[in-house]
This record gives sequence, structure tokens and C-alpha cells, in this order.
Amino acid sequence: MIEVTLLGTGSPIPDPNRAGPSTLVRAGDQTFLVDCGRGVLQRTAALGVGANSLTALLLTHLHSDHIADLGDVIITRWVSNFAPDLAPLPIIGPPGTAEVVENTLKAFGFDIGYRIAHHEDLTTPPPVTVQEVSDGVVWGRDGVQIRVAPTDHRPVTPTIGFRIEHDGASVVLAGDSVPCTTLDDLAAGAGALVHTAIRKDLIDPLPMQRIRDICDYHSSVEQAAETAARADVGILILTHYVPAIQPGQEEEWRALAASVFDRQIELGDDLHRVEVHPGVGIRKD
Ligand SMILES: [Zn+2]
Ligand SMILES: [Zn+2]
Repeated sequence: MIEVTLLGTGSPIPDPNRAGPSTLVRAGDQTFLVDCGRGVLQRTAALGVGANSLTALLLTHLHSDHIADLGDVIITRWVSNFAPDLAPLPIIGPPGTAEVVENTLKAFGFDIGYRIAHHEDLTTPPPVTVQEVSDGVVWGRDGVQIRVAPTDHRPVTPTIGFRIEHDGASVVLAGDSVPCTTLDDLAAGAGALVHTAIRKDLIDPLPMQRIRDICDYHSSVEQAAETAARADVGILILTHYVPAIQPGQEEEWRALAASVFDRQIELGDDLHRVEVHPGVGIRKD
């Protein structure tokens, strides 16, 4: 079984009730953080998951809303670990990730220096390893395999989706993408597809061109559902709602997806959790 928790279902627009884009995937005894938007560690704290119990950080792309709390994840993991010899945090993302991580560490350079000077048992900067990937198998450890493929979020490029497999169960995380064959192939037959979605019918009429621009590089609810249908996945999990789902609007969003995808559809608030079993998905709460 793989457990998916929507940590942050928000978007770049701050929302009092929705953290920035981030999803927690637990497979076997491994815990993967996929993207790390604003407020992510407050959400993992609600699950009793600390930064130092993350197995790896996976980044779909380098848009600010998806990496806003990268520094918080790296620094908090470092300062909240009390075991000797903290292993490096594996960070897997598209080309460019190493530069972002390096510059984040630079931005926190004063902080890192203060803490090393102050605490006798902190002697080195936060340990991380960065793996830049765009295609193929990128992780294989204790029964968990992770594969990536390019997605289409142009002009943002490169961007990637992840497929996490464990014991016959599989979850694909699309990130931000318009429909594309590489995502279809990555998602083919998966237990669940976690896909970001925007309501083009609500965004298109807005007067600000800069807001309307987002329609051309995201999937609408219906397009995300079409991808799920084409790929024949068991469960469609929608997240990263633009605009934020208002109270009472959930069924409207679900109906749009259900018009093209007739299997299980999950959406909701931060901390919404879905169990993905081999072959079939069962909602937990
Ligand atoms: Zn994006
Ligand atoms: Zn985004």
C-alpha cells in the first residue's frame, strides 16, 4: 500500500487555509516529500512527520510555489536531528536543482554559520545530495522504485513527473503540466494520479492578463481527468486548486472531473489522505 497525503493544496496565491503545493507519499518505511511549497513543515508536523524523517525530497519543477520552503526543509532537518552523523538528504529534481539548492544554502549562509559557531555538535553545513534527472529510473531502495519522465509546463522547462512503485501499488505525481504523451506513458495503469488542476472557466473571464496566462501551461480539471482516463489509472487525486476551492464548491469540481473520468476522484483540503492499494484505491478519511 502507498499512502498519499495532500500537505498543501494551495497555489502561489496565499490562502489562510491552504499551504503551498506539496504532497507526502509513504511507501513501505520510506517517506517522500514531493515539492515543498509554503508551510509544508507545519503540515507534516500535523502528521507527526518531522523534517528529519524524510527519506528524500522530490521536486517536479523549480517554480517558486513548489520550492518556497526548500530552505526551511533543509535547515530544519539539520537543526532538529540529534543523532550523530546525519545522512545527506537526497534531493531529486530536474536540471537546475543543484543550482537552486546551492544558492539556497548560500542564502542561509549566515544562519548556518551562527549555528555551527554556537552548537558544539553542529560541525558541518546541512548535508544534502542532489540528483538532477529528466527520464528513467532514479531510485531503487528496499522495494521502492521511482521513475521520472518529462512533463509539459512550457515555457517552464525542464519539468518532470514521478512514478513511485511499492509492492504492486503505484502513484504518479504529475506536478504542473498540460496533457502530454510522456505523462500519459508515465501514468499508464497506475493506482493513482496526483494532478494539479485549474478551473479555466473561472480564470479565463478575469480581467488581469497575467492571471489568465496561467491557463496556457496548466491542465484544467477536465484535462487532468482526461489524462487519468487515457492512462487508465484507478484514482484521480486533484490538488493545487486555482482558484482555491471555496466551501461548498467541492462537488462542482468533482462533477467536472467525473464528466470524463468515471472512477474514484479525490479532492479536498490540506491533509486529505488517500490509500492506494495494488490494483485498486480505497479512500481512508
Ligand atoms: Zn508551475
Ligand atoms: Zn504550481
